[in-house]
Amino acid sequence: VDRRTMEEKLPEDLANLSELDEKRLLEVLTGRFTQNLIYTYIGDILVAINPFKYLSIYEKEVSERYKCHEKKSLPPHIFAVADRAYQSMLGRLATGPKNQCIVISGESGAGKTESTKLLLRHIMELCKANSQLEQQILQVNPLLEAFGNAQTVMNDNSSRFGKYIQLRFQNSSVKGAKINEYLLEKSRVVHQDEGEQNFHIFYFMLAGISMEDKEIYGLLDPTHYRYLNGRFGQEDVVQAWRVKYAEVCNAMDMVGFEEQVRTKPSTVAAGLLNAFFLVKTCGTCGETIVCVCVCVCFCKQGQFGVQEEDLLKSLTCTTSVTRGEAIQRLHNQQQAEDARDSIAKVAYGRVFGWIVSKINELLAPKVDCDVELNEIGILDIFGFENFTVNRFEQLCINLANEQLQYFFNHHIFLMEQKEYKEEGITWETISFKDNKPILDLFLTKPIGILSLLDEQSAFPQATDRDFVDKLNSKFKTAPNFEVVRNHTPLFTIVHYAGKVQYNASGFLEKNRDTIPANIRELFINSVTPLLSVLFAATISRTGTLMPRKAKLQVADDNFNSTRKQSVGAQFKHSLAVLMEKMFAAGPHFVRCIKPNRSKQPDQLDSKLVMDQLRYNGLMETIRIRRDGFSWRPAFKEFAERFVFFLIVVFSCVSILNSTELSGWKCGSCRLFFKYWHQEELARLLERLGRAALVIQKSE
Ligand code: ADP
Ligand code: MG
Repeated sequence: VDRRTMEEKLPEDLANLSELDEKRLLEVLTGRFTQNLIYTYIGDILVAINPFKYLSIYEKEVSERYKCHEKKSLPPHIFAVADRAYQSMLGRLATGPKNQCIVISGESGAGKTESTKLLLRHIMELCKANSQLEQQILQVNPLLEAFGNAQTVMNDNSSRFGKYIQLRFQNSSVKGAKINEYLLEKSRVVHQDEGEQNFHIFYFMLAGISMEDKEIYGLLDPTHYRYLNGRFGQEDVVQAWRVKYAEVCNAMDMVGFEEQVRTKPSTVAAGLLNAFFLVKTCGTCGETIVCVCVCVCFCKQGQFGVQEEDLLKSLTCTTSVTRGEAIQRLHNQQQAEDARDSIAKVAYGRVFGWIVSKINELLAPKVDCDVELNEIGILDIFGFENFTVNRFEQLCINLANEQLQYFFNHHIFLMEQKEYKEEGITWETISFKDNKPILDLFLTKPIGILSLLDEQSAFPQATDRDFVDKLNSKFKTAPNFEVVRNHTPLFTIVHYAGKVQYNASGFLEKNRDTIPANIRELFINSVTPLLSVLFAATISRTGTLMPRKAKLQVADDNFNSTRKQSVGAQFKHSLAVLMEKMFAAGPHFVRCIKPNRSKQPDQLDSKLVMDQLRYNGLMETIRIRRDGFSWRPAFKEFAERFVFFLIVVFSCVSILNSTELSGWKCGSCRLFFKYWHQEELARLLERLGRAALVIQKSE
């Protein structure tokens, strides 16, 4: 089928649809999907449907074509988004902020992380990165995925953390990168729901580690590990994990872990194993005194670098000081297990954070500090989640998604329509689902959900029930909150993407995220450097880990006097920082769609897709992209860019009248363009530039 007939039936840009209803929208997307056309535009927004199969659309020749191209000349593609962000950063498409951000959204398994990798790859192509830095940047992903991804019911390679990758450029060449990570799902280390696995690295390592190292680390047969639920893979799976382990080790080498910090991958793996040590059940002693046995096993091998006696004590009893007297209380089994789990979670979280900060150190741009660097940020965070049981993690994830939806709405609907009004453009308002009230429900001080949670977390006696009772009394009339009458502490929030019922059991504990002082103390004094640094570290403002030696005083102060920030408060803060960055950048949106729940190729479940289109507000987005003006330069900005013209004609309006452009409008102090005008003008400018050169030359 040639491109023109296709274009009529199944347009590449949904903003070109003349008749617009849900049925037609679904028809176009389905029609394109069946022909393996997974990408479709809505103006400048890219819709991507996960094909769940290999498509030959990412080859070298393809990426060659999507370099500095005109949008209309090639089919929609993720590479085009990368190109556009890159060209915008270089100021080639329009003036406006130099920094760019690409926001990728969608449910778990919709294809966000794959899109991120493709974007990264293409940007590296575009800037013709020097091969070492390019390789380093590209290897970051497999490394992070090994430690931060896991198999879930929704996705075999599900990211269990959010990330914002910032590529830093000096003019057109990449100089470094920085990663921010959000909300690693640490609880996965100690518990996985039915049909799910622990983080990949454990399987990779157990499959790939050499016999010799296995011996050194005292590793047992994988089926002995309770944190793996005593399950391991079939031989073919294990073989694949073995390959992956080699890849991870290689990635660590490439990123520079070995040479620059002289930390061999195996040291990190050892750190993890140490984090993992409590996982073991001792074969000889059985369940009841599991912690005790584990301690003995490990201290004997000197793995933790701590005194056997001290570790035992910290796992089996708590010490509290009352009126100057130290009182020891023995743990029951449950308490001992909780202590074990809390150490494992903290240690894993710290190791992950340490890897990220190490990557940031290694990839930090090596340029003079007065050099101006521009940024392209790519945001890949977990999509909206709604499970049978939704916990504190889901609450945070869904809050992040509300924030992103707000960012999208703000750019696509709010800002745009506000300007039409201010500038006196005739315009029929397009309504959209504004989720500001939900954000306020979470974030308002002092009576937002997170503040109330912090308030309750500060009372040692408060229970999760108390927290829910507080919510119920404060928000019973709030439009996005629903009271649930039940003996378990439940409550419901009506999110932009649908109703989610949360189970608040464990909320206070997770929000506090404390490890008992005696356990922390123990590890700070460990002679294993990685662990002592990890436990003594404070996260500095820049996100790098500061070792204890350099920060001894501060670290100790932090530990003893000031209470550390709650998880909710930390997350709220990092979201705010992220948003500030993003609001100051030129935005690009990729909306990923999951075609079916069974991860199958060539299957599209209409209802599932329609639901996603609806809650993403894609219908409204199409309308505003079709009828609206997404590029709105002020007269001055426009004149600056097209000043060349001004030699010939004087006002903006007459410049435009003198071109073949149509469909634009003029407001009281800015101009209103369709998204495609930008490219047309850039082309015009180029033509004129060439003409000028010819004139100059002939002179
Ligand atoms: P998300 O990050 O949104 O949870 P992923 O990006 O991990 O989802 O995608 C889930 C799976 O879908 C991938 O592991 C891969 O098998 C498949 N997939 C996603 N995008 C593509 C693509 N463009 N081409 C082929 N397969 C894809
Ligand atoms: Mg992902």
